[in-house]
Amino acid sequence: MPAKYHIHVEPVVDRFLSPKSYVALERDGCLGCLECVKRQCIYDVFKQGKYNPEQMRDSADSLCRNCLWCVQQCKRRLFSRQSNPDFAAMGDEYWTPKIIAALWSQASDGKVPVSGAGYTGPFCGPGFDQIWTDMSEIVRPTRDGIHGREYINTSADIGRKSRRLIFDKDGKTTNASYPLISIGLPVVINLLPFGAVGEGLREAIGLTAKELNILAIRDADELVEHNWPVDTIGHLAPYLRADQPVKQYTKLIKQVRAVEIDDGPKVLEKISEIKNLAEEAVVIVRLPLAPEAVKRAVKLAEQKVETLHLFADYRGNEFEDGNDSAKLSSAANPRFVSEAVAEIHEALIRAGLRDAVTLIASGGIALAEHVAKIILCGADVAAVDIPVLLANQCRMCLNCRENKPCPVEIDNVQVDWSRQRIVNLLGSWHAQMIEVLGAMGIREARRLRGELGRAMFFRDLEKESFGPIFGQRKEFTTEEISKIKKQISKR
Ligand code: SF4
Ligand code: SF4
Repeated sequence: MPAKYHIHVEPVVDRFLSPKSYVALERDGCLGCLECVKRQCIYDVFKQGKYNPEQMRDSADSLCRNCLWCVQQCKRRLFSRQSNPDFAAMGDEYWTPKIIAALWSQASDGKVPVSGAGYTGPFCGPGFDQIWTDMSEIVRPTRDGIHGREYINTSADIGRKSRRLIFDKDGKTTNASYPLISIGLPVVINLLPFGAVGEGLREAIGLTAKELNILAIRDADELVEHNWPVDTIGHLAPYLRADQPVKQYTKLIKQVRAVEIDDGPKVLEKISEIKNLAEEAVVIVRLPLAPEAVKRAVKLAEQKVETLHLFADYRGNEFEDGNDSAKLSSAANPRFVSEAVAEIHEALIRAGLRDAVTLIASGGIALAEHVAKIILCGADVAAVDIPVLLANQCRMCLNCRENKPCPVEIDNVQVDWSRQRIVNLLGSWHAQMIEVLGAMGIREARRLRGELGRAMFFRDLEKESFGPIFGQRKEFTTEEISKIKKQISKR
């Protein structure tokens, strides 16, 4: 029996004290009680906390779990908590401080995040929060999910698949077989959109891809110019921009199992050049998600392109116009990546080409649940980028884009530290995927693809529940909204 896919996680200490959502404040006026609340903190925050002069931070803020016990129990009310402006300033409205902190924690211990008793957040929001998965099978907690006896397979295939097998009279298959790469998780590491990436992080990405049996897409020049651990090369997919000629990377292409190239007028010529050098390599075509991408995706699948990488911007929004990849800008009213991918998935089914092509989707994949949801919408594999930086304690300050110093010196990370942090993050995502699949009663990640019947979409629920009561959903104009507000304020 083949070994079960397993990701080895282990705790890795932070290099820098990360900003926490709250900071502790302490006033003077201590009575010197014999049973001081400081001695009773079950997390030993007051005993272990130290001021770190280099980072100008008190580690107590990082250790504190904000249970507020000391705040409530001190007789003189000397302790209080205040929201931390450094924490609130991180990221943006999509990559929220809460998401950033959750990813730090998963990279640090590799565990599934637990939020305590019940979910306290909203039940709907933008992006992936508009999709709910059907977890009706969760009634068997001892049997399902990561605690269960049944193995849940998370592997995925990248490449073209034959629609049917044809056998000769001796029982041998006669139709062409295509190169296929099997990966242990339906995840590949994408190009990083920013980051002061140094040797340590570069090597760590290659080693992680090898350890987890996945692929990492890397810039072709970076692969040529830097040393990579030799045995990781089979897990690295060089990316060639439209203006980079294949012949310049002959030696590299002969060593790898996959190559990613930009879509463009010469894409088919480029694919055949790559196949002439490495027949067994899978060629992935990078296609920006834009309104016209659906037609292009079907056309490329008809032309026997084996894998498409559909990418949105880093918040998951589609682009205004995908025809000129050098001038990609977000659309004024963009659709979210899940909707754009679902449209392409459905168009490929209608064209009878869905299994002839693998769809990799990227843009806005921030949490483990997003991987499951984008697969549900029709992708085979999700590509992750910013979470890899966050695993290395990136704060999304974007200083690196302006050549300013990185507050966590990401260019200096040690290979092993960084590798284990990324492995921990993806280990936690693997465990969460198994939880989701188990709860949905699905035993294989491949079977999750396009299972829209196992998901609920806010727009449909709204239509079904409120449509019969209020009729067609009405979009209010700004004037109408202010008129309604005035009427309400008069009441
Ligand atoms: S809030 Fe809770 S965890 Fe934090 S220092 Fe006080 S008692 Fe300890
Ligand atoms: S912490 Fe800031 S400077 Fe460092 S990699 Fe992240 S975004 Fe760039």
